[in-house]
Amino acid sequence: MMYDIGIIGGGTAGITAAIYALRAGKKVILIEGMTYGGQIVTSPKVENYPGIASISGSDFATNLLNQAIAFGAETELETVTGIREDEGVKVIETTGKEYPCRTVIIATGVTHRHLGIPKEEELVGAGVSYCATCDGAFFKNRDVAVIGGGNTALQDAAFLSNYCNHVYLVHRRNEFRGEKGLVKPLEARENVEFVLNATVKEIIGESFVEGLLLTNKTTDEDFEIKVDGIFMAVGQTPKNDAFENVVKLDGSGFILASEDCMTSHPGIFAAGDCRTKEVRQLTTAAADGAVAGLAACQYIDQA
Ligand code: NAP
Repeated sequence: MMYDIGIIGGGTAGITAAIYALRAGKKVILIEGMTYGGQIVTSPKVENYPGIASISGSDFATNLLNQAIAFGAETELETVTGIREDEGVKVIETTGKEYPCRTVIIATGVTHRHLGIPKEEELVGAGVSYCATCDGAFFKNRDVAVIGGGNTALQDAAFLSNYCNHVYLVHRRNEFRGEKGLVKPLEARENVEFVLNATVKEIIGESFVEGLLLTNKTTDEDFEIKVDGIFMAVGQTPKNDAFENVVKLDGSGFILASEDCMTSHPGIFAAGDCRTKEVRQLTTAAADGAVAGLAACQYIDQA
């Protein structure tokens, strides 16, 4: 069975690409490795998507997937291991199957960056978490720390302050990278404490998290805070290793593609957070999905 467009990744970019391609009459296979919806699924509240005043990330993702399915999307839950070019056909390889396609859209998103400090990996699930929405409820009435200064860290701190006794927001600079609109409400929360200009030196605890050893960057002095949970929100990294032999990546592993979503390989497009770009938002992921979906249709129609 030959597909017109094989889409790798069932997040906002991938599903949007599917909607556009299906509406253009193309045969589409949407392959997702784990959970449809991508990163937005873990966002408790989305308030910056034009036209939708407020919606939970999981409702947004469910609506999006249902919309694609209503247009006739075929979906598979499988791990993609690579893409090969076989006499003009792009073959998507998974752990179990192969999908021959005329064009491919890579929309694999990003994954959580790890801080890379001692004990971080050992204590995942024993106090160290990369998802406040998933694990926050385990820390009801406890003291926790969020590490990072971007929108994710700010949102996580707000979310956790609803459950937790005390939330330390630890950031390595004096200014947050995230939006001011998210900082202001945090300042008003009595159980949120900003620990700025501080780096994380060590996690304290043997079989579970008991605290953090931090360094004050101004005085160079170390100090401890006692916490039961640590939520890492220090950014994201791409997961494009499986495609490095078919498309060019930048030094950080993002797929080199510009606003037209074209990669270095004709007929392979990249959409959403997995490609080089300045702004990684839900709206830009959806926009990329539309651009890549239509570009793939045009590539097929002109062949
Ligand atoms: P991000 O914007 O890249 O922020 C990462 C934060 O982690 C930065 O504050 C950074 O510090 C800090 N950091 C990185 N490496 C560190 C290290 N080794 N030690 C200590 N701190 C470290 O990542 P994000 O917050 O996950 O957001 C990713 C993208 O998704 C962004 O474009 C963001 O706007 C978007 N997003 C949007 C929303 C929303 O609109 N509501 C919600 C979530 C995410 P520095 O600032 O010093 O570099």
